[in-house]
Amino acid sequence: MTASMLPVRYRVIGNRRDTADTHTLTLLPVDSPLPRPRPGQFTMVYVFGVGEIPLSVSGYPADGDHTVTHTVRAVGAVSAALCRAEPGTVVGLRGPLGTVWDVPGARHRDLLFVAGGIGLAPLRPPLLEALSARPDYLSVTVVAGARTPSEHLYRTEDELWQACGARVLRIVDRVPQDPDTGRPQAWSGPVGLVTDLLGQVRLRPDRTTAYLCGPEVMMTHTGAALVALGMRPTDVQVSLERNMRCGIEICGHCQLGPDFVCADGPVSTLEHAEPLLAVREL
Ligand SMILES: Cc1cc2nc3c(=O)[nH]c(=O)nc-3n(C[C@H](O)[C@H](O)[C@H](O)COP(=O)(O)OP(=O)(O)OC[C@H]3O[C@@H](n4cnc5c(N)ncnc54)[C@H](O)[C@@H]3O)c2cc1C
Repeated sequence: MTASMLPVRYRVIGNRRDTADTHTLTLLPVDSPLPRPRPGQFTMVYVFGVGEIPLSVSGYPADGDHTVTHTVRAVGAVSAALCRAEPGTVVGLRGPLGTVWDVPGARHRDLLFVAGGIGLAPLRPPLLEALSARPDYLSVTVVAGARTPSEHLYRTEDELWQACGARVLRIVDRVPQDPDTGRPQAWSGPVGLVTDLLGQVRLRPDRTTAYLCGPEVMMTHTGAALVALGMRPTDVQVSLERNMRCGIEICGHCQLGPDFVCADGPVSTLEHAEPLLAVREL
């Protein structure tokens, strides 16, 4: 078995509940750490006796900090087991795998991050990377959408991101009633789709690099809207998070046309991904 197939043991040292079905886990290596993941990369996370799934890295650790952070939404057996994992639980990690968001290549440009739901998790590392070198960029804008107010991730970080020079715009699909109080959930922001907020972004199409992550329908529509506003598809980066198994270009589970999403993705330009986004996942 090659080294890339062998999980490295990591211990859960933190499990924070972010929303009703989404938790952020902080993992510390038990043995030698994996190489430091770069923004956009993912690891294959193995829950012993349950299974293994790909998860994007959602943290941006400082040099010498070997923790790996994942934000995971419980949708099935493995993701639910991770959300339940108590501190002390040992899991296996392979990676880091996949391509990266190109933030350094966008120096001296406007950066626009557009996230839908859990898609804000993979965008958090490139956002933090950009904010750590804020003077290198003309502007940094975050547009985040969620189904409901209580499903927005990392809302407590908005103030910090703003203090570091980002403009943060949030929107929800709808404002449902709070089951405990019977009143609408607290929300003073707009209601609609992330594309509705693009008009509030002072977009300079030839000077902007955009990073999109969320449901494929959201990336397709947002990408089309940005191109209609004058952006080049090569300046729009997207993350294709298709089901995968081996993560290392062997099994073919995530093959999409000529691409293996695990190795040629998940991140690529809209120009490259557009024909792939048109292929529905089986
Ligand atoms: C590169 C990559 C990065 C990812 N990063 C994250 C992340 O940061 N956080 C996170 O919560 N999830 C992420 N996912 C999705 C995550 O891998 C799936 O939710 C997980 O595999 C579901 O496994 P399960 O055993 O819990 O559920 P299963 O029982 O296997 O699946 C439950 C449901 O989720 C659907 N599903 C499975 N995989 C995916 C997928 N890739 N995309 C959309 N729906 C899926 C299934 O079709 C099914 O309907 C990522 C996926 C990829 C490919």
